[in-house]
Amino acid sequence: MASLFLQNGAGPERSLEDRYPPCTGNFRARSVIRFCRDSTRTRFVETLHYPQDEEKEVADCIFCKIAGGEIPCAKIHENERVLSFLDIGPINPGHALVIPKKHSATILEMDPADLEACIVLCQKVARAVLKATGAPGLNLLQNNFRAAGQLVDHAHFHLIPRLEQDDFLRSWPAKSYSPGQLDQMLEKVRAAF
Ligand code: AMP
Ligand code: ZN
Repeated sequence: MASLFLQNGAGPERSLEDRYPPCTGNFRARSVIRFCRDSTRTRFVETLHYPQDEEKEVADCIFCKIAGGEIPCAKIHENERVLSFLDIGPINPGHALVIPKKHSATILEMDPADLEACIVLCQKVARAVLKATGAPGLNLLQNNFRAAGQLVDHAHFHLIPRLEQDDFLRSWPAKSYSPGQLDQMLEKVRAAF
C-alpha cells in the first residue's frame, strides 16, 4: 500500500503535519508538496495550502500594495494582469521587475494565464531596458524561496541589464554527475512531473 511522506533525502520519515504544522504568523512555507511512495517510485500527489497564512501574507505584501496603488512605484507598464516597474535597489541602473497583480508567493502557485502575461511583458520590458541603457546583456531572473534568494514573497521576474565589467553572477559553479547519477536524477524528476 502507498504511504504518504515528505521527500527530504536521508533521515527518518515523519508525517507532513509533524514536519510542517499549520501555523499563524510569519510562516514562510505557505504550501507544501506532498509525495506518495510505493515500492517502485515516488510521485507527486498534491500541494497543500495554508489559507490563513496566505491572507496575512497578502495583507502584508509590499508588491500587492504596489499593484493596488497603495505604494508608489516607478511604473514602466501595466495591464489588467501584470505590472512592471524599476527595482528600487538595482543591480545595474535600469533593473526592472515584472509582477502578476494577483498575489502568488512564488512561481509555483501562479495562475498560468498570469504567468503567460508576465513572460510576454518580460520580453517587452527586456527590449526597452536594453534599448534605454545600451547594455550589452540582460539576465531574466526569478527567485523562489529564501534558499534561492527570494526576499519579497510575491512572485516576480527580474530584468537585469548587464555590463561587461559588473560584479553580478560572474561565476557559474557548474558541477558534474558521477556515472549513473544523471539517469537517476532524470528518473526522479520524471516521476515527480
Ligand atoms: P528578490 O530577492 O528576488 O525577492 O527581489 C526583490 C526585489 O524587490 C529586490 O531587488 C528589491 O530591491 C526590490 N524591491 C523591494 N521593494 C521594492 C519597492 N518598493 N519598489 C521597487 N523594488 C523593490
Ligand atoms: Zn502580493
